[in-house]
Amino acid sequence: MTLERRSTRRIHVGSVPVGGGAPISVQSMTTTKTADVDATLAQIYALHGAGADIVRVTCNDVEAAQGLAEIVPRSPVPIVADVHFQYRLALAAIEAQVAGLRLNPGNIRDERHVKTVARAAADAGIPIRIGVNAGSLDRDVLARWGAPVPEALVESALIEVGYLEDVGFEDIKISVKHSDVPSMVAAYRLLAERVDYPLHLGVTEAGPPPGGLVKSVAGIATLLLEGIGDTIRFSLTADPVEEAKAGRQLLEYLGLRERRSVDLIACPSCGRAEVDVIEIVEEARAALEAEGLPIQVALMGCVVNGPGEAREADIGIAAGRGKGHLFIKGQVVRVVPEGEMVTALVEEARRLVAEGVEARLAARDVAAAAEAAETRLELLGVQGDANRAAERRAAVAEVVGEPDVEVR
Ligand code: SF4
Repeated sequence: MTLERRSTRRIHVGSVPVGGGAPISVQSMTTTKTADVDATLAQIYALHGAGADIVRVTCNDVEAAQGLAEIVPRSPVPIVADVHFQYRLALAAIEAQVAGLRLNPGNIRDERHVKTVARAAADAGIPIRIGVNAGSLDRDVLARWGAPVPEALVESALIEVGYLEDVGFEDIKISVKHSDVPSMVAAYRLLAERVDYPLHLGVTEAGPPPGGLVKSVAGIATLLLEGIGDTIRFSLTADPVEEAKAGRQLLEYLGLRERRSVDLIACPSCGRAEVDVIEIVEEARAALEAEGLPIQVALMGCVVNGPGEAREADIGIAAGRGKGHLFIKGQVVRVVPEGEMVTALVEEARRLVAEGVEARLAARDVAAAAEAAETRLELLGVQGDANRAAERRAAVAEVVGEPDVEVR
Protein backbone atom coordinates (compact mmCIF):
# COMPACT_ATOMS: atom_id res chain seq x y z
CA MET A 1 0.00 0.00 0.00
CA THR A 2 1.38 3.39 -0.96
CA LEU A 3 0.68 6.32 1.31
CA GLU A 4 -0.22 9.62 -0.25
CA ARG A 5 2.05 12.28 1.20
CA ARG A 6 1.42 15.94 1.70
CA SER A 7 3.16 17.96 -0.94
CA THR A 8 5.95 20.11 0.47
CA ARG A 9 8.89 22.12 -0.74
CA ARG A 10 12.21 20.36 -0.87
CA ILE A 11 15.26 21.46 1.07
CA HIS A 12 18.65 19.80 1.38
CA VAL A 13 20.43 19.08 4.63
CA GLY A 14 23.85 18.49 3.13
CA SER A 15 23.41 15.49 0.84
CA VAL A 16 20.05 14.50 2.31
CA PRO A 17 16.92 15.84 0.58
CA VAL A 18 14.03 16.61 2.91
CA GLY A 19 10.47 17.18 1.64
CA GLY A 20 9.16 17.34 -1.88
CA GLY A 21 8.62 13.57 -2.03
CA ALA A 22 12.12 12.67 -0.79
CA PRO A 23 12.39 9.51 1.36
CA ILE A 24 11.51 10.36 4.96
CA SER A 25 14.78 10.76 6.80
CA VAL A 26 15.73 9.62 10.28
CA GLN A 27 17.42 12.01 12.68
CA SER A 28 19.00 11.61 16.08
CA MET A 29 21.13 13.70 18.38
CA THR A 30 24.42 13.04 20.09
CA THR A 31 24.66 13.04 23.87
CA THR A 32 28.41 13.62 24.09
CA LYS A 33 30.13 16.95 24.75
CA THR A 34 30.65 18.37 21.27
CA ALA A 35 34.08 19.64 22.31
CA ASP A 36 35.06 15.97 22.74
CA VAL A 37 35.50 15.44 19.02
CA ASP A 38 36.47 11.77 19.10
CA ALA A 39 33.64 10.72 21.42
CA THR A 40 31.13 12.70 19.36
CA LEU A 41 32.35 11.25 16.08
CA ALA A 42 32.22 7.73 17.53
CA GLN A 43 28.58 8.31 18.44
CA ILE A 44 27.80 9.84 15.03
CA TYR A 45 29.23 6.74 13.34
CA ALA A 46 27.15 4.50 15.63
CA LEU A 47 24.02 6.50 14.82
CA HIS A 48 24.76 6.32 11.12
CA GLY A 49 25.16 2.54 11.42
CA ALA A 50 21.82 2.29 13.22
CA GLY A 51 19.95 4.15 10.49
CA ALA A 52 20.31 7.90 11.13
CA ASP A 53 20.48 9.98 7.95
CA ILE A 54 21.12 13.29 9.73
CA VAL A 55 22.67 13.86 13.16
CA ARG A 56 22.16 16.89 15.36
CA VAL A 57 24.89 18.04 17.69
CA THR A 58 24.62 20.67 20.38
CA CYS A 59 26.47 23.91 19.82
CA ASN A 60 26.18 25.36 23.29
CA ASP A 61 29.52 27.11 23.78
CA VAL A 62 32.62 28.23 21.92
CA GLU A 63 34.40 24.93 22.53
CA ALA A 64 31.45 23.09 21.00
CA ALA A 65 31.56 25.33 17.92
CA GLN A 66 35.27 24.64 17.59
CA GLY A 67 34.59 20.93 17.95
CA LEU A 68 32.06 21.18 15.12
CA ALA A 69 34.74 22.52 12.81
CA GLU A 70 36.60 19.23 13.26
CA ILE A 71 33.56 16.98 13.36
CA VAL A 72 31.83 18.19 10.17
CA PRO A 73 34.53 17.13 7.68
CA ARG A 74 34.93 13.72 9.33
CA SER A 75 31.24 12.86 9.72
CA PRO A 76 29.55 10.20 7.54
CA VAL A 77 26.24 12.09 7.71
CA PRO A 78 25.20 15.77 7.52
CA ILE A 79 25.53 17.55 10.84
CA VAL A 80 22.94 19.99 12.16
CA ALA A 81 23.95 22.39 14.93
CA ASP A 82 21.44 22.79 17.73
CA VAL A 83 21.47 26.37 18.98
CA HIS A 84 19.65 27.90 21.92
CA PHE A 85 19.87 31.39 23.43
CA GLN A 86 23.04 32.66 21.74
CA TYR A 87 22.63 33.59 18.10
CA ARG A 88 26.41 34.10 17.83
CA LEU A 89 26.86 30.38 18.30
CA ALA A 90 24.66 29.85 15.24
CA LEU A 91 27.02 32.12 13.31
CA ALA A 92 29.98 30.14 14.65
CA ALA A 93 28.33 26.87 13.59
CA ILE A 94 27.88 28.25 10.08
CA GLU A 95 31.59 29.04 10.07
CA ALA A 96 32.19 25.41 11.04
CA GLN A 97 30.31 24.49 7.83
CA VAL A 98 27.46 22.56 9.38
CA ALA A 99 24.77 21.29 6.99
CA GLY A 100 21.92 22.91 8.89
CA LEU A 101 20.87 24.84 11.96
CA ARG A 102 18.13 24.30 14.48
CA LEU A 103 16.97 27.47 16.18
CA ASN A 104 14.54 27.56 19.09
CA PRO A 105 12.25 30.58 18.69
CA GLY A 106 11.48 30.36 22.40
CA ASN A 107 14.96 31.42 23.41
CA ILE A 108 16.50 33.30 20.47
CA ARG A 109 13.86 35.98 20.67
CA ASP A 110 15.38 39.07 19.12
CA GLU A 111 14.08 39.43 15.57
CA ARG A 112 17.28 41.16 14.47
CA HIS A 113 19.39 38.27 15.68
CA VAL A 114 17.21 35.73 13.88
CA LYS A 115 17.51 37.73 10.66
CA THR A 116 21.28 38.04 11.03
CA VAL A 117 21.53 34.27 11.31
CA ALA A 118 19.18 33.78 8.34
CA ARG A 119 21.32 36.03 6.12
CA ALA A 120 24.47 34.13 7.10
CA ALA A 121 22.71 30.78 6.51
CA ALA A 122 21.56 31.99 3.09
CA ASP A 123 25.13 32.95 2.20
CA ALA A 124 26.33 29.51 3.31
CA GLY A 125 23.44 27.78 1.50
CA ILE A 126 22.23 25.89 4.56
CA PRO A 127 18.69 25.38 5.87
CA ILE A 128 17.27 26.33 9.24
CA ARG A 129 14.86 24.27 11.29
CA ILE A 130 12.47 26.34 13.31
CA GLY A 131 12.31 24.06 16.32
CA VAL A 132 9.35 25.05 18.48
CA ASN A 133 9.06 23.14 21.72
CA ALA A 134 6.10 23.19 24.11
CA GLY A 135 8.47 23.24 27.07
CA SER A 136 10.36 26.33 25.91
CA LEU A 137 7.69 28.29 24.10
CA ASP A 138 8.14 32.00 23.39
CA ARG A 139 6.94 33.73 26.57
CA ASP A 140 4.73 36.30 24.76
CA VAL A 141 3.00 33.59 22.78
CA LEU A 142 2.57 31.53 25.92
CA ALA A 143 1.07 34.53 27.73
CA ARG A 144 -1.42 35.07 24.90
CA TRP A 145 -2.65 31.48 24.91
CA GLY A 146 -2.21 30.76 28.61
CA ALA A 147 -0.77 27.29 27.96
CA PRO A 148 1.36 25.55 25.33
CA VAL A 149 -1.70 24.56 23.30
CA PRO A 150 -1.27 23.42 19.67
CA GLU A 151 -2.37 26.84 18.37
CA ALA A 152 0.35 28.52 20.45
CA LEU A 153 3.07 26.27 19.05
CA VAL A 154 1.94 26.96 15.51
CA GLU A 155 1.76 30.71 16.15
CA SER A 156 5.32 30.73 17.46
CA ALA A 157 6.51 28.82 14.38
CA LEU A 158 4.71 31.17 12.01
CA ILE A 159 6.16 34.27 13.68
CA GLU A 160 9.62 32.85 13.12
CA VAL A 161 8.78 31.89 9.54
CA GLY A 162 7.81 35.54 9.05
CA TYR A 163 11.20 36.76 10.30
CA LEU A 164 13.02 34.43 7.90
CA GLU A 165 10.79 35.20 4.92
CA ASP A 166 11.27 38.94 5.59
CA VAL A 167 14.90 38.54 4.57
CA GLY A 168 14.04 36.25 1.66
CA PHE A 169 15.03 33.07 3.50
CA GLU A 170 12.84 30.07 2.65
CA ASP A 171 15.25 27.19 3.17
CA ILE A 172 13.13 26.15 6.14
CA LYS A 173 11.82 23.09 7.93
CA ILE A 174 9.68 23.24 11.02
CA SER A 175 8.92 21.23 14.12
CA VAL A 176 6.22 21.87 16.73
CA LYS A 177 7.02 19.28 19.35
CA HIS A 178 4.97 18.56 22.42
CA SER A 179 5.38 15.87 25.06
CA ASP A 180 1.63 15.27 25.05
CA VAL A 181 0.83 13.05 22.07
CA PRO A 182 -2.65 14.39 21.14
CA SER A 183 -1.35 17.99 21.41
CA MET A 184 1.66 17.14 19.23
CA VAL A 185 -0.55 15.55 16.58
CA ALA A 186 -2.96 18.50 16.64
CA ALA A 187 -0.12 21.03 16.34
CA TYR A 188 1.38 19.36 13.27
CA ARG A 189 -2.03 18.99 11.62
CA LEU A 190 -2.67 22.70 12.11
CA LEU A 191 0.74 23.64 10.83
CA ALA A 192 0.40 21.39 7.78
CA GLU A 193 -2.69 23.40 6.80
CA ARG A 194 -0.81 26.68 7.04
CA VAL A 195 2.55 26.13 5.33
CA ASP A 196 4.13 23.91 2.69
CA TYR A 197 7.56 23.79 4.32
CA PRO A 198 8.79 20.29 5.18
CA LEU A 199 8.02 19.16 8.71
CA HIS A 200 10.29 17.48 11.22
CA LEU A 201 8.17 15.23 13.47
CA GLY A 202 8.80 14.31 17.05
CA VAL A 203 7.23 13.86 20.47
CA THR A 204 9.52 15.86 22.69
CA GLU A 205 10.92 14.47 25.93
CA ALA A 206 9.15 11.17 25.34
CA GLY A 207 11.12 9.53 28.16
CA PRO A 208 12.72 6.09 28.44
CA PRO A 209 11.54 3.01 26.54
CA PRO A 210 9.12 1.33 26.42
CA GLY A 211 6.84 4.30 27.25
CA GLY A 212 8.96 6.73 25.22
CA LEU A 213 8.84 4.45 22.22
CA VAL A 214 5.09 4.04 22.49
CA LYS A 215 4.53 7.79 22.73
CA SER A 216 6.85 8.51 19.82
CA VAL A 217 5.27 5.88 17.60
CA ALA A 218 1.77 7.01 18.53
CA GLY A 219 2.48 10.61 17.52
CA ILE A 220 4.83 10.14 14.59
CA ALA A 221 3.04 7.19 12.97
CA THR A 222 -0.37 8.85 13.25
CA LEU A 223 0.91 11.83 11.27
CA LEU A 224 2.93 9.80 8.78
CA LEU A 225 -0.13 7.70 7.98
CA GLU A 226 -1.95 10.94 7.19
CA GLY A 227 0.87 11.88 4.82
CA ILE A 228 2.27 14.53 7.18
CA GLY A 229 5.99 14.59 7.96
CA ASP A 230 9.25 14.66 6.02
CA THR A 231 11.87 13.79 8.62
CA ILE A 232 11.52 12.23 12.08
CA ARG A 233 13.23 11.97 15.42
CA PHE A 234 12.45 9.77 18.41
CA SER A 235 13.46 11.72 21.55
CA LEU A 236 14.18 8.91 23.97
CA THR A 237 15.89 8.94 27.32
CA ALA A 238 18.20 6.19 26.16
CA ASP A 239 21.30 5.56 24.11
CA PRO A 240 20.59 7.61 20.95
CA VAL A 241 21.39 4.52 18.89
CA GLU A 242 18.00 3.26 20.11
CA GLU A 243 16.37 6.40 18.68
CA ALA A 244 17.95 5.90 15.29
CA LYS A 245 17.04 2.20 15.21
CA ALA A 246 13.46 2.88 16.24
CA GLY A 247 13.05 5.67 13.69
CA ARG A 248 14.41 3.55 10.92
CA GLN A 249 12.28 0.55 11.90
CA LEU A 250 9.12 2.63 12.06
CA LEU A 251 9.66 3.87 8.53
CA GLU A 252 10.34 0.34 7.29
CA TYR A 253 7.23 -1.04 9.02
CA LEU A 254 5.10 1.69 7.48
CA GLY A 255 6.54 0.91 4.07
CA LEU A 256 8.06 4.39 3.84
CA ARG A 257 11.67 3.22 3.53
CA GLU A 258 13.08 0.16 1.87
CA ARG A 259 13.75 -2.74 4.23
CA ARG A 260 17.41 -3.04 5.02
CA SER A 261 17.24 -5.17 8.10
CA VAL A 262 15.40 -8.23 9.26
CA ASP A 263 11.70 -7.90 10.09
CA LEU A 264 10.90 -10.42 12.74
CA ILE A 265 7.38 -11.82 13.00
CA ALA A 266 6.93 -13.99 16.05
CA CYS A 267 3.84 -15.48 17.57
CA PRO A 268 3.09 -14.31 21.11
CA SER A 269 3.14 -17.97 22.20
CA CYS A 270 0.27 -19.70 23.93
CA GLY A 271 -0.50 -22.94 25.71
CA ARG A 272 -0.02 -24.74 22.42
CA ALA A 273 3.63 -23.72 22.12
CA GLU A 274 6.06 -26.60 21.71
CA VAL A 275 9.15 -24.54 22.64
CA ASP A 276 10.06 -21.52 24.76
CA VAL A 277 9.17 -19.00 22.05
CA ILE A 278 10.68 -16.02 23.88
CA GLU A 279 14.03 -17.75 24.29
CA ILE A 280 14.12 -18.94 20.67
CA VAL A 281 13.13 -15.50 19.37
CA GLU A 282 15.86 -13.79 21.37
CA GLU A 283 18.46 -16.23 20.08
CA ALA A 284 17.25 -15.87 16.49
CA ARG A 285 16.96 -12.09 16.70
CA ALA A 286 20.57 -11.71 17.79
CA ALA A 287 21.81 -14.05 15.04
CA LEU A 288 19.65 -12.52 12.29
CA GLU A 289 20.47 -8.93 13.27
CA ALA A 290 24.15 -9.78 13.09
CA GLU A 291 23.55 -10.98 9.52
CA GLY A 292 21.57 -7.83 8.61
CA LEU A 293 19.44 -9.72 6.08
CA PRO A 294 16.63 -7.61 4.56
CA ILE A 295 13.88 -10.23 4.85
CA GLN A 296 10.81 -11.02 6.89
CA VAL A 297 11.33 -13.96 9.23
CA ALA A 298 8.61 -15.74 11.23
CA LEU A 299 9.17 -17.68 14.44
CA MET A 300 6.16 -19.69 15.46
CA GLY A 301 5.68 -21.70 18.62
CA CYS A 302 3.84 -24.61 17.01
CA VAL A 303 3.43 -26.28 13.67
CA VAL A 304 -0.35 -26.54 14.17
CA ASN A 305 -1.00 -22.93 13.22
CA GLY A 306 2.49 -21.53 12.59
CA PRO A 307 3.21 -21.99 8.87
CA GLY A 308 -0.35 -21.03 7.91
CA GLU A 309 -0.47 -17.91 10.07
CA ALA A 310 2.92 -16.77 8.81
CA ARG A 311 2.55 -17.75 5.17
CA GLU A 312 3.29 -14.18 4.02
CA ALA A 313 6.74 -14.21 5.63
CA ASP A 314 9.74 -14.84 3.41
CA ILE A 315 10.94 -17.58 5.70
CA GLY A 316 9.98 -19.04 9.05
CA ILE A 317 10.25 -21.89 11.45
CA ALA A 318 7.62 -23.61 13.58
CA ALA A 319 8.24 -26.04 16.44
CA GLY A 320 6.56 -29.39 17.02
CA ARG A 321 7.37 -32.68 18.64
CA GLY A 322 11.04 -31.88 19.23
CA LYS A 323 11.60 -30.63 15.71
CA GLY A 324 11.79 -27.38 13.81
CA HIS A 325 9.76 -27.08 10.60
CA LEU A 326 11.42 -24.63 8.29
CA PHE A 327 9.15 -22.99 5.74
CA ILE A 328 9.53 -20.55 2.85
CA LYS A 329 6.45 -18.56 1.82
CA GLY A 330 4.32 -21.00 3.84
CA GLN A 331 5.79 -24.18 2.24
CA VAL A 332 7.68 -26.51 4.55
CA VAL A 333 11.14 -27.10 3.05
CA ARG A 334 13.09 -28.85 5.80
CA VAL A 335 12.60 -30.48 9.18
CA VAL A 336 15.47 -30.19 11.66
CA PRO A 337 16.04 -31.24 15.28
CA GLU A 338 14.70 -28.62 17.71
CA GLY A 339 18.19 -27.81 19.00
CA GLU A 340 19.25 -26.79 15.49
CA MET A 341 16.23 -24.60 14.75
CA VAL A 342 17.96 -21.24 14.96
CA THR A 343 21.13 -22.29 13.16
CA ALA A 344 19.12 -23.87 10.34
CA LEU A 345 16.89 -20.81 10.07
CA VAL A 346 19.81 -18.40 9.80
CA GLU A 347 21.58 -20.58 7.27
CA GLU A 348 18.44 -20.90 5.12
CA ALA A 349 17.78 -17.14 5.42
CA ARG A 350 21.27 -16.43 4.15
CA ARG A 351 20.76 -18.77 1.19
CA LEU A 352 17.33 -17.34 0.48
CA VAL A 353 18.73 -13.82 0.16
CA ALA A 354 21.61 -15.06 -2.01
CA GLU A 355 19.68 -17.47 -4.25
CA GLY A 356 16.03 -16.31 -4.23
CA VAL A 357 12.72 -17.98 -3.35
CA GLU A 358 12.36 -20.12 -6.47
CA ALA A 359 15.81 -21.67 -6.10
CA ARG A 360 15.31 -22.46 -2.43
CA LEU A 361 11.86 -23.95 -2.98
CA ALA A 362 13.31 -26.12 -5.76
CA ALA A 363 16.01 -27.32 -3.33
CA ARG A 364 13.49 -28.31 -0.65
CA ASP A 365 13.39 -31.71 1.03
CA VAL A 366 10.31 -33.21 -0.61
CA ALA A 367 9.55 -35.35 2.45
CA ALA A 368 9.47 -32.31 4.77
CA ALA A 369 5.93 -31.16 4.00
CA ALA A 370 4.49 -34.63 4.65
CA GLU A 371 6.45 -34.88 7.90
CA ALA A 372 5.15 -31.50 9.04
CA ALA A 373 1.58 -32.46 8.13
CA GLU A 374 1.91 -35.67 10.16
CA THR A 375 3.25 -33.81 13.21
CA ARG A 376 0.44 -31.29 12.85
CA LEU A 377 -2.19 -34.03 12.81
CA GLU A 378 -0.54 -35.70 15.78
CA LEU A 379 -0.65 -32.45 17.74
CA LEU A 380 -4.23 -31.81 16.70
CA GLY A 381 -5.10 -35.23 18.02
CA VAL A 382 -3.67 -34.24 21.40
CA GLN A 383 -4.67 -30.58 21.50
CA GLY A 384 -7.63 -30.20 19.13
CA ASP A 385 -7.98 -27.77 16.29
CA ALA A 386 -7.84 -24.19 17.52
CA ASN A 387 -9.70 -23.10 14.42
CA ARG A 388 -12.78 -25.07 15.45
CA ALA A 389 -13.06 -23.38 18.85
CA ALA A 390 -16.55 -22.03 18.11
CA GLU A 391 -17.90 -25.52 17.47
CA ARG A 392 -16.35 -26.77 20.68
CA ARG A 393 -17.82 -23.88 22.66
CA ALA A 394 -21.24 -24.78 21.26
CA ALA A 395 -20.72 -28.40 22.23
CA VAL A 396 -19.70 -27.39 25.74
CA ALA A 397 -22.76 -25.20 26.10
CA GLU A 398 -24.98 -28.08 25.01
CA VAL A 399 -23.43 -30.50 27.47
CA VAL A 400 -23.72 -28.02 30.33
CA GLY A 401 -27.34 -27.54 29.39
CA GLU A 402 -27.27 -23.78 28.91
CA PRO A 403 -28.66 -23.22 25.46
CA ASP A 404 -28.82 -19.48 26.04
CA VAL A 405 -25.04 -19.23 26.42
CA GLU A 406 -23.93 -16.89 23.67
CA VAL A 407 -21.70 -18.71 21.20
CA ARG A 408 -19.26 -16.49 19.33
S1 SF4 B 1 1.72 -20.31 16.47
FE1 SF4 B 1 1.04 -21.95 17.82
S2 SF4 B 1 2.10 -21.48 19.79
FE2 SF4 B 1 2.18 -19.63 18.57
S3 SF4 B 1 0.38 -18.46 19.25
FE3 SF4 B 1 -0.21 -19.60 17.37
S4 SF4 B 1 -1.14 -21.48 18.20
FE4 SF4 B 1 0.04 -20.57 19.89
